[in-house]
Amino acid sequence: MLIIGSHVSYGKNQLLGCVEQAIEYGANTFMFYTGAPQNTIRSQVNENLTIEAYKLMKENNILADKIICHAPYIINLASNIFPEKYEFSMKFLRTEINRCNLLKIKYLIIHPGSAVQHEKNIAINNIINALNKILKPEDEITLLLEVMAGKGTEIGTNLNELNIIYKGILLKDKIGFCLDTCHLNDSGIDIAKIDNYLNEFDALIGLNKIKCLHINDSKNEIGLKKDRHANIGFGTIGFDNLIKVIYHDKLKDIPKILETPYVGEKPIYKKEIEMIKNKKFNPNLMENIINLK
Ligand code: FE
Ligand code: FE
Ligand code: ZN
Repeated sequence: MLIIGSHVSYGKNQLLGCVEQAIEYGANTFMFYTGAPQNTIRSQVNENLTIEAYKLMKENNILADKIICHAPYIINLASNIFPEKYEFSMKFLRTEINRCNLLKIKYLIIHPGSAVQHEKNIAINNIINALNKILKPEDEITLLLEVMAGKGTEIGTNLNELNIIYKGILLKDKIGFCLDTCHLNDSGIDIAKIDNYLNEFDALIGLNKIKCLHINDSKNEIGLKKDRHANIGFGTIGFDNLIKVIYHDKLKDIPKILETPYVGEKPIYKKEIEMIKNKKFNPNLMENIINLK
């Protein structure tokens, strides 16, 4: 079954608001941040809204066990140049895991981090140490490390780095991965030849560790390390290559999440999901949306 959704906002009615947006977009899963991705201001989880959300999911065939939460960008486990910032990142990630427990969410995505002034191997060690400190055997969450584009000093932009991190984690059953098609493209992976990458991933880590896919087109040519997402079919990866990934036999049961740009201050996830379901690209989509206004 196609498991498809998009980023939705938690700001309005928490998880219940997320579910309402997912239904509107024709999705059967979704991803949310528990607050603004750039800051750490978080509201208390409202239990009633959570209960209502799960009821609504059941009525609308939203796959509750495929929902994804994404931790804010400002968490950086790779640098301990400022020990108080490193401590803060660990503490905040811990509270985020606790929030996921309250919301009964099984997957939490984090960006591995940025080395800043550190040597790569030191940054990678910082990530491993932080994760080994944070994760507890009784946790019901799986932390998903996202593959990064290679902007700035980002860690986790190739399989070698991801594998070193993974091998250093003590509680391996608490760790999974999220592939992002835009990040892969920008890091130098040709999405048209995704099978080569998947074979390599399988040999090193195991495909069963991929728990989420971010489906984004890219505004940049392959290997430019930019990380600028484009709407589905309107970037350098192209519709057919993205469809190949979305319907790939080996990636069947993995939720696919769109993080594509808004058009005219609004997301166009509903239209993009429609194209994906029909496997048919609409090259006039943007003009149609702009003419509607
Ligand atoms: Fe991300
Ligand atoms: Fe992503
Ligand atoms: Zn990105």
